[in-house]
Amino acid sequence: ADDLVKAVDRIMRHADGARRLRVRANADTPEDAARARRFGAQGIGLCRTEHMFLGERRQLVEDLVLATTDEERQAALDALEPLQKADFIGIFRAMDGAPVTIRLIDPPLHEFLPDLVELSVKAATQEATEKDRRLLSAVKRLHEQNPMLGLRGVRLGLVIPGLFAMQVRAIAQAAKEVPGARPEIMIPLVATVQELESVREEAVKILAETGVDALIGTMIEVPRAALTAGQIAESAEFFSFGTNDLTQMTWGFSRDDVESSFFHRYLDLGIFGVSPFESIDRDGVGRLIEIAVAEGRAARPDLHLGICGEHGGDPDSVHFCHDVGLDYVSCSPFRIPVARLEAGRAALSESDSDTR
Ligand code: PEP
Ligand code: MG
Repeated sequence: ADDLVKAVDRIMRHADGARRLRVRANADTPEDAARARRFGAQGIGLCRTEHMFLGERRQLVEDLVLATTDEERQAALDALEPLQKADFIGIFRAMDGAPVTIRLIDPPLHEFLPDLVELSVKAATQEATEKDRRLLSAVKRLHEQNPMLGLRGVRLGLVIPGLFAMQVRAIAQAAKEVPGARPEIMIPLVATVQELESVREEAVKILAETGVDALIGTMIEVPRAALTAGQIAESAEFFSFGTNDLTQMTWGFSRDDVESSFFHRYLDLGIFGVSPFESIDRDGVGRLIEIAVAEGRAARPDLHLGICGEHGGDPDSVHFCHDVGLDYVSCSPFRIPVARLEAGRAALSESDSDTR
């Protein structure tokens, strides 16, 4: 068994020595971050902050949703800020000076708001409080037919004043407390440079006030963002391809319904060899990535480029990311060894064909 461990170590070192792609992890907790480092992650490529608003903090999210005045809204945000700061301190410590890309909140609202049916039933009972009734009308107001195409990501940040600012301040304050912390701030679901610019302006101001350095960049996960990457790169120091949403929006398939009958029928008919949610479809999402890489780099030669959709841990997709010239892939901690190996293989097969 010892020999096997040594052999695996040797192979991993060989792959690490050859690869050009860096490998980061998708992790949202200090525990995941620590696990990711054990697997060899060179940073966090995606820290999803929406998960930090669940559990006991739901109450504060409800307060935020219910706020009808600036004061009420600010009170809810003020209560959330120290909790967020503590979240980020934990992650910065676990990553010990490696870069951490923190994505500002991107909640599909249906996963965060109280369930409309449950709330309706409750609000109709004798015990219903005034708050229950107010919550019901707020939730009705926010109800969407297509939440995944609705009030998410940057859209939410622009609709709720102070929400993104609270997160940026928490990131900056946390970074100040952890020596060597390297935060990167990522804006989700951007479709146009104007959205990005309005968030960036506010974030730059907060960083300057706190004296903290952080890259500011964007997810590229809406086809329009990929097609206007040249403009978007003017306001972004990095791009991270969100291929989960990009696949959904490019194909027009709901990512939540891949178990549906038509999807299986398509697989049976061989309309796609493997699911496009598993492996990057070269002709669709792959083309959009190529366009965005070319336009982005033309506009900003030092643009950092990565991927943080599930595809970042799929060997075939990792190979594609190498070929298209990304700087890093980011995947779940358990897929890191595979990503390291495949990144090494991609680099080695390239040098093989160079010398042939
Ligand atoms: C993506 O869309 O690929 C992504 C990484 O973000 P999320 O899965 O959180 O939407
Ligand atoms: Mg996404």
